[in-house]
Amino acid sequence: MGARILDGRALAQRLQAEIAEGVARLRQEHGLAPRLAALLAGDDPASAQYVRMKRRACERVGIESQTQELNADSDQRAVERALRVFNADPAVHGILVQLPLPPQIDEQKALAQVSLAKDVDGFHPLHVGQLAMKGREPAFAPATPSGVMVMLKDAGVCLAGAHAVVLGRSNIVGLPLALMLQKADATVTLCHSHTRDLPALVRQADVLIAALGQPLFVKAEWLKPGVAIIDVGTNRIEDPSSERGWRWVGDVDFERARRVAGAISRVPGGVGPMTITMLLRHTLLAAQRSLGPHV
Ligand code: NDP
Repeated sequence: MGARILDGRALAQRLQAEIAEGVARLRQEHGLAPRLAALLAGDDPASAQYVRMKRRACERVGIESQTQELNADSDQRAVERALRVFNADPAVHGILVQLPLPPQIDEQKALAQVSLAKDVDGFHPLHVGQLAMKGREPAFAPATPSGVMVMLKDAGVCLAGAHAVVLGRSNIVGLPLALMLQKADATVTLCHSHTRDLPALVRQADVLIAALGQPLFVKAEWLKPGVAIIDVGTNRIEDPSSERGWRWVGDVDFERARRVAGAISRVPGGVGPMTITMLLRHTLLAAQRSLGPHV
């Protein structure tokens, strides 16, 4: 029997409909319009495209959005000034710093300027630190790992006591996800480019998260039968049979892995739509919280 396909697109649609209802209620009952402000520094076309996608998603659910664009040669002061303006603006509820920032910008220092109450991407170092600590909860966790956790929950995957293997330790995906999985009582192994005998570790996984950026890296032969797989990897590979000459693939060899796994997400149509949905959900939450604890 083949794996159950975890459809991130369908789940995202369902959740976005709920978010749209929440936004409409906030407007009706409190006259408040949630607003997301994005900082886009530099001229990376992929970053500009991501910001456009997020703006369109905001429109779909009724969240207002604005973008502050800065030149590729902007300095640290310009970036931090733009973030302070967002922080001080009561009409802005969520702030998004599109990464990567230009190389001359100290990313960590810039992210630390974002108001904690508006850090809907969960990238503030304090929020990441709180993720790592027992008994602490950040106001917001990073969007992609949050989306993965929601997908696992929706699929009914039991995490308590499960062995979760996370491939990749980046600040935006692998590391925070490993922290969130251990908070959900999984036993976590975090793998990276120095990990020895990665296939042997993958073979032990009840839950496998692939976030490497290496196309079709994880082979079906490495998998424990019945494993639940979330593939975060989003890689472009050449494909002469496709009209545009290329296609998206994940980090897992999906077509073979689906014959062994119990559940598996697709690329595209898996984690991608969930990441944007979590950003929308966090922006709504930030707007709701701005009304105070009794609302
Ligand atoms: P990074 O390049 O920042 O991190 C990759 C991680 O994978 C690093 O920890 C690296 O190890 C590890 N790694 C790379 N190659 C190997 C290897 N051969 N063996 C073992 N470990 C390896 O990537 P991101 O975390 O930013 O992104 C990962 C993937 O997820 C990408 O494909 C990206 O496009 C996708 N992505 C998708 C999102 C979505 O919404 N769908 C959102 C964000 C990312 P080391 O630390 O030792 O260098």
